[in-house]
Parts: sequence; structure tokens; C-alpha cells
Amino acid sequence: MTDAPWRRTAAAAGLLGSTGEIAPTIFAEMTALATRTGAINLGQGFPDFDGPAVVLDAAQRAIRDGVNQYSPGRGHPELLEAVAEHQRRWYGLGTTTAEVLVTAGATEALAATMLAYLEPGDEVVVFEPYYDAYAAIAGLAGARIVPIPLSPPTFEPDVDRIERAFTSRTRMVIVNSPHNPTGVVFDEDVLREVVRCAERRDALIVTDEVYEHLVYDGRHVPIASIDGARDRLVSIGSGGKTFSTTGWKVGWLVSTPERVTQILSVKQYLTFVNGAPFQPAIAAGLRMDDEAFDTLAATFARKRDLLTRGLRSVGLTVPDAQAGYFVLADGSGLGFANATDLARRLPELAGVVGVPLAPFARASRHDLKPWMRFAFCKRDEVLRDAVDRLGALRGLAEAPTA
Ligand code: PMP
Ligand code: GLN
Repeated sequence: MTDAPWRRTAAAAGLLGSTGEIAPTIFAEMTALATRTGAINLGQGFPDFDGPAVVLDAAQRAIRDGVNQYSPGRGHPELLEAVAEHQRRWYGLGTTTAEVLVTAGATEALAATMLAYLEPGDEVVVFEPYYDAYAAIAGLAGARIVPIPLSPPTFEPDVDRIERAFTSRTRMVIVNSPHNPTGVVFDEDVLREVVRCAERRDALIVTDEVYEHLVYDGRHVPIASIDGARDRLVSIGSGGKTFSTTGWKVGWLVSTPERVTQILSVKQYLTFVNGAPFQPAIAAGLRMDDEAFDTLAATFARKRDLLTRGLRSVGLTVPDAQAGYFVLADGSGLGFANATDLARRLPELAGVVGVPLAPFARASRHDLKPWMRFAFCKRDEVLRDAVDRLGALRGLAEAPTA
């Protein structure tokens, strides 16, 4: 391997141009486009409203109380306890604080875990489309991703396609359920098949469960609750999405005490620690009662419905999102075979920004090219305005030209 690590990272994320220039991520590009054009930004997944007052108040209190210096390397004791308690309360897992590590968002948890275990030539199984960080970090480690395709229009994983992605080089499988960008929640038979294949190949299972509390039908089932999973598991969560605090970057991982110590040996040289006063605040969030979590999910479900109805009303095919912050829409209904073109033109056509699905997949996934992702984690009046504006697309749907 002769490439510089930065080059491998950018290339794996699809950001390296043919003449060596580096593009911004799709999230950064589309947020900049929204800012430049004044379009409503339904691209990058961040709420435009504040989360629960108990969480915000706890952070302000922590700052006033002097929680402003480095926290302990493994995390603020209150957050370690709250995460362990959370795993027990929601999933009946007997998690202890020795099994928890606080990280700078789910992103650092992913990076530290992947860098701790991946070696050049290793394979990482992911469900495609996938969150961009997985390929980028695998690339940095010199490993490569092996995708299991999720196909439109349902994007549900096919249990029969899982085993063939695993080989003798598989070191890790990343399970992101609820899934970004599709909003799909993986069934238990999918989770069981992943565990079976991981056992067979002696691979580590890494989960990305940042949307665990934003499930709109039923409840989240963590892979940790499947027999045989916990010995080979690193479960990753984050407070950003649940509590509408994406800028705080407080996440965590849960694994065996041995693995937590191993991953800590990498994590402590990435950031060491972060967000001291935000850690007890996220702990306060995790300790909210069940009703408060239900209210959060109900609020997001309403927003999902609002945007889904709006997109469908202009003639777009929009699968039901079962969870998360996003809905997908098939741009071919508007005459766009390539959603990247549609995304770049949408501010001018309708005053709205979304992101194309292409950057979440390999270039060979032609079936994903017409699809876009729209975020509904926005105030109701903003979503209503966006839906009104999207009405301008109705003509396109009726008379496709592009
Ligand atoms: N994983 C997924 C699936 C995401 O959508 C995101 C974006 N929030 C992250 C990880 C990163 O989370 P964090 O901001 O906590 O680093
Ligand atoms: N998780 C956010 C999304 O999917 C993006 C975060 C980022 O910009 N890296 O929109």
C-alpha cells in the first residue's frame, strides 16, 4: 500500500477527484448550497429546534458548577452509570460501567473501534447504502468494505444475501439499525443471521444505534439481545440525535471490559476526552422517564408524516421510514435519472435542499442513482413551508423533461 492515509480515507469516501482534488462531504456541500441560495436545508441531519429542557438545563448547570475541565478518560461517572442503566432499563442487558466508554460522538466510537481492530487487507461487511464514515475509516485503516445491498423501493435487507458477504478476511460487520439513510429497522431474523455469520467467521460485530429512540412503529431491538452476540460486540450510541444536540458530540460504546480498555488505548490519542459539561447533561437525558421518550418519538413521527405526505403529493415515490431523521424519494418520478443533478438544481426548482443517495454507496449501485434523502428533523412550520415549495415540482412530475 503506497497511498498516503489521507488519500485512502478521501478515496474510500468517494471524495478524491481524478486530478487529486478533495471534495467536501455531501452534507457539507449541500448545507453550503442551502446557505448560499437561501433554500430550506433538508440535507444534513440536524434539528433546527432544541431538545428537552432537562438536558439543556443540566448542561448550563454543569458549566456553572465548574464541570469545565478534562473529564476522566473513560467518561464522566454520571454518564457511565446512566449508559449502563439505560442498557439495563430498555434492553434488559446486565451492563456495568466497566463495559462503557464515553466518546466524542458515535463518530469517534466508530473510528476508535475500527482503528483498534482493522488491519490492512481486512474486510468490513456493511449494509449499502451506508453512512459515509464507515468506508472512510475503513480506508484509513487500509481495510475495505464489502457491501450487502439494500434494494429499492423497500430497502429491507434480504436475509439470504448476508452470508455471501462474509469471507475468511472478514474482520468486522457494521450493523446500523435503525438505518441511515433508509429509515429501515432490521428484523430480528436479519440480526440473528448477522450473528450467525459473524460467529462462523469469528468477526467482530459493531453496531451503530444512534437512532435507537427514534423508532416510530414498535421498539428498537439491539443486536446485543440476540444469543451469541455479546461476546463479539461493540455497541455504539450517541446523545446527538435523540436529544437534538448533534453539536455536543457526546456518544458512547458498550463492550466487554477487555475490549473497552483496548479501544480506549486508541481513543485516548484521538481526542483523549471531550464535552465535559455535556456529559452529565446527556446522562440527565438518558434518565428521562419513558413518557418523555415516547413524546420525542411521537414528535418526530408527526414530522415524518408531514414530509412524507408532502413529497408524495407531488408525485414522488416515498417508502415509509420506520425510524430516524430521514425519508427517501425517487427522483425518477420527476424525470431525473440522476439525483445528484436533481439535488444541485432543487434550490432553483423548489427552494429546498436534500442529498442524493449516491455518496452512501459504491459508484456501481446504479439502482440508487435516482434516489434522494430528505431530513424531517425540522420545525413543523419549516416542513410546511418546504412542502409548499416542493409543490413547484408538480409540473415536472406530470411532464418529465430532464
Ligand atoms: N452514525 C449514523 C448512522 C449517523 O447518522 C450519524 C450522524 N449523526 C453518526 C453515526 C454520527 O454521530 P455523532 O454525531 O454522534 O458522531
Ligand atoms: N449524520 C448526519 C447525516 O446523515 C451528517 C453528519 C455529518 O455532516 N457528517 O446527515
